[in-house]
Amino acid sequence: MEGILQLEIGDILELKKKHPCGSYDWKVISVGADIRLECCACGHNIILKRSVLQKSVKRIKRTWFPFLIMIVYLSVIYFYPCSFAVEGT
Ligand SMILES: [Zn+2]
Repeated sequence: MEGILQLEIGDILELKKKHPCGSYDWKVISVGADIRLECCACGHNIILKRSVLQKSVKRIKRTWFPFLIMIVYLSVIYFYPCSFAVEGT
């Protein structure tokens, strides 16, 4: 994958190499100088350096759930600003 790898905990990564159990998908468990991944199929844990992982990631299957919550939250604030103001007065 090109560019800087932007990872968040909970992201699902598809790697180029297949795990012996048959899965390509890995879940990000922790992020730092080293990245800890858990195999989605068998639960096996591995720790990879960010630079090594960057070369072996095919794509990121990001979960959109937190993003959706943020959209709902912002639209509530936008459409019902009065309901918050009335409480304070
Ligand atoms: Zn596995």
